[in-house]
Amino acid sequence: MDNEHAAAYGPSCADCGSGGCADGSGAYPPFCATAALAAEDRAALLEQYRDEEVYRIMAAASDTARLAFDEHWCRVEETMEYARRTGARKLGIAVCSGLLGEGRTLARILRANGFDVYGMACKVGSLTRAELGVADSCCDYGAVSCDPLLQARLLNEAGTDLNIVMGLCVGHDILFAQRSAAPCTTLVVKDRALVHNPVAALHAACGPSPYNRMLKQHPAWRA
Ligand code: SF4
Repeated sequence: MDNEHAAAYGPSCADCGSGGCADGSGAYPPFCATAALAAEDRAALLEQYRDEEVYRIMAAASDTARLAFDEHWCRVEETMEYARRTGARKLGIAVCSGLLGEGRTLARILRANGFDVYGMACKVGSLTRAELGVADSCCDYGAVSCDPLLQARLLNEAGTDLNIVMGLCVGHDILFAQRSAAPCTTLVVKDRALVHNPVAALHAACGPSPYNRMLKQHPAWRA
């Protein structure tokens, strides 16, 4: 573990180098949650997965993941297959205003595959940061603020079956998911520095990359 906070909570899956739970190898570290799972807990969990709605989502996700793996499908294809299997015909796109071009392409693809599409941009409503009383320097996208509450409300009013999140800011995505009536799935996560591919920084962080700076506490966060 790398810092005192991790030490305070003890090791967890975030510290595991084994991953034995994934292959059933029994290679469990001493702090393993799988090894600690009691038989009655396991039975109770299985019961929860028998709930009709939970099972419907789990079965669709499982079948979709198998196909995506076998067929080398990209995430867009995987999302469409999941939607098809769950009977979601009207798809919402909660799109970052900085990704409207990609949003239009996604809408074309979804429509070409028989879905109804209703997109809503993050800046809808044009509320300003000044009106909201929030800092006006979160990005160089002008004085208008993202508005995840209105974004969710308008998609709710449209009656979407499934909402696809495209590049919402950290925090705005949380508010959107909280207010979305339809289930949400993420297609694009915003990463302004890495062309929306944040895992690249994690791959680079342990090597001679500028992103290894993240392994030390950020100067601004020191007490
Ligand atoms: S459940 Fe156990 S084996 Fe799986 S990642 Fe967590 S600690 Fe590792």
